[in-house]
Amino acid sequence: MYPSRIQNLINEFSRFPTIGPKTAERFIFYLLKKSPQDLERLSEMIKNLKTISFCPQCGNFAESNRCTICVDKRRDQTTICVVAEPQDLMAIEKTNDYRGLYHILGGVINAPQGLGPEQLQINQLLARIKKNNVREIILALNPDLEGETTLLYLINLLKSNPTFSWIKISRLARGLPMGSDLEYADEITLSNAIKRREII
Ligand SMILES: [Zn+2]
Repeated sequence: MYPSRIQNLINEFSRFPTIGPKTAERFIFYLLKKSPQDLERLSEMIKNLKTISFCPQCGNFAESNRCTICVDKRRDQTTICVVAEPQDLMAIEKTNDYRGLYHILGGVINAPQGLGPEQLQINQLLARIKKNNVREIILALNPDLEGETTLLYLINLLKSNPTFSWIKISRLARGLPMGSDLEYADEITLSNAIKRREII
């Protein structure tokens, strides 16, 4: 057993996604070789994460009120790309092929995990569409069971409401492998999926 100060940190790092105890140990040994200044800087950066908030309009990470994407007037304000998590937004931004706005649902419908539509930012999305002059909604969800379920739910919701009948609804072109994650998709594949999006 390591001294508790080391062991506690190993336990903490082991809880990180994809990190097992062995990798967590390696992180700690790496940190133990760092200077006190470096450790101070790192802990300061972690502490500063507390001040990150979420954009009240789209749900993206923000350092002040609205995020940098929502305040950018050069972006197409009439198109909203709906994604599950901020990481998906980042992946699409990296393609440099999308110049509209986003809406982050904060997850996907996942019944076994008790996540239903009411836990997602769907009402906020509908309110946004009603309030602004939105012309197109691009549904960019992971090509897996939960993503598809959420996508079908949203299509149904939008199509069944006459208020939204004039809005173009599209989904990413098929081409991303089933079960894959937008976050890890290569830029060319993702870029093509957006450019060749399918109107529903
Ligand atoms: Zn925003």
